[in-house]
Amino acid sequence: MERVRVRFAPSPTGFIHIGSIRTALYNYLFARHNDGDFILRIEDTDRTRYVEGAIENLIESLHWAGIEYDEGVFIEDGKIVQKGEYGPYIQSERLDIYKKYVDELIENGHAYYCFCSKERLDSVREEQKIKGLIPKYDGLCRSLSLEEARERIANGEEYVVRLKLPHNKDIKFHDIVRGDITINTEDIDDQVLLKSDGYPTYHMAVVVDDHLMNITHIVRGEEWLPSTPKHIYLYEVFGWEKPTYVHLPTVLNKERKKLSKRQGDVSVEDFRKKGYLPEGLVNYLALVGWSPEDNEEILSMKDLIEKFSFERVSKTGGIFDKDKLDWVNGHHIRDYDIDKLTELSIPYLKEAGLIDDETVEKRYDWIKIMVKTVEESLSYLSEIVDKVEVFFNNEVKPENDEALAMLKGEQVPILLNAFKEELNQVEKVDEEFSKGIMKKIQKSTGIKGKNLFMPVRIALTGNNHGPELVNIIYILGKQNILNRINYVEENYLKG
Ligand code: GLU
Repeated sequence: MERVRVRFAPSPTGFIHIGSIRTALYNYLFARHNDGDFILRIEDTDRTRYVEGAIENLIESLHWAGIEYDEGVFIEDGKIVQKGEYGPYIQSERLDIYKKYVDELIENGHAYYCFCSKERLDSVREEQKIKGLIPKYDGLCRSLSLEEARERIANGEEYVVRLKLPHNKDIKFHDIVRGDITINTEDIDDQVLLKSDGYPTYHMAVVVDDHLMNITHIVRGEEWLPSTPKHIYLYEVFGWEKPTYVHLPTVLNKERKKLSKRQGDVSVEDFRKKGYLPEGLVNYLALVGWSPEDNEEILSMKDLIEKFSFERVSKTGGIFDKDKLDWVNGHHIRDYDIDKLTELSIPYLKEAGLIDDETVEKRYDWIKIMVKTVEESLSYLSEIVDKVEVFFNNEVKPENDEALAMLKGEQVPILLNAFKEELNQVEKVDEEFSKGIMKKIQKSTGIKGKNLFMPVRIALTGNNHGPELVNIIYILGKQNILNRINYVEENYLKG
């Protein structure tokens, strides 16, 4: 087989959408599975949609997600650089190349100059709509002679170049996911290939670049499926070998609508900020529209590369299910190295004002144990703030009537006294103390089981459930525990 070469070709229009990163991921997995090349090309020919900083953001997001590419546009020392033998990889730097191919199409009668004003195009469209026709260019300039057109250009008239599609011709192609597809040229517009600003449209640029960059498989979202016949036709008139097409199902929400910004998080940046791990997000996204043969769901990048194939990409839209993402991400959190997890959690704790630089410097191990203690309950890292808040407020509040009733048990004063007595015998609460204390009170008071553990837990946290008591005791330390017990006695046990 010919060496696989695939590309991810985003337009730098802002933050990278979750559907877009999945496209990048599938390209990457396919390339790595086949020992091929993966290229990042920037499609920035629509100057009206260009957003400053978007290229940097894109590259940063791919890098964060662990989606590495071999060729194209990179950032080095804060600067955009390009690497590879097929450059430039930024379309706005390839205008001469497109111009040359557009000229060739005009020479060969496969494209024509069009001088129709926006006003005229609008009114044609309106009329077609009234008649119930699909709006498309009516072909007025198709019959202009090349001579006449050139004269008008020489006179300074504004123009575009359009593709001259033959009438009533079936265009056929095969898509790995969608199967055989036929579309008649009557249903396709004479696509603009070169705009009046001298930039090519996406359709022209994508075909020229994919050909010149030796791309073997075009893997992209299914929203590009209706454009594909135009591309196929261009390959045909240029006499170029066509790539293999793979159109991926759109990422949908639970209502089967396109995932949009209005419903909340849609960009990689959003998920990253919330504290999803790259491993979790990538694992989950791989499953939106694809599944491995063994239906395994928790997969590393290595597993994904090994198992990935287009044959198992589904035709219907992939549903983005946030609960499932949380579940998958939680697994990866539990798999993470605790030091790494602590590092990643610290910014959230700092931002919430729970810790500061000094805490990080002097009590790193304490933070680490706190992270370890709540790790089990996290779906994504920013949740840590809620989960550890209990360690920072000594004004304990029973979370409900059940908890309050537990505190009111007749054995509780004895229990809490015994706890204080033990505490007063040590200078600080260390690991040994936290591990042994409950046994000691059990012995000295004769209270055991639920009657022992529940009131202590509630006195220390207000909650009926939560992390291991041993860890709670250790994390709180002597003074906080004393303060809490005193507070509970003062507020709930008196009277
Ligand atoms: N520039 C297009 C986009 O923004 C790329 C489509 C394609 O992969 O051909 O998605």
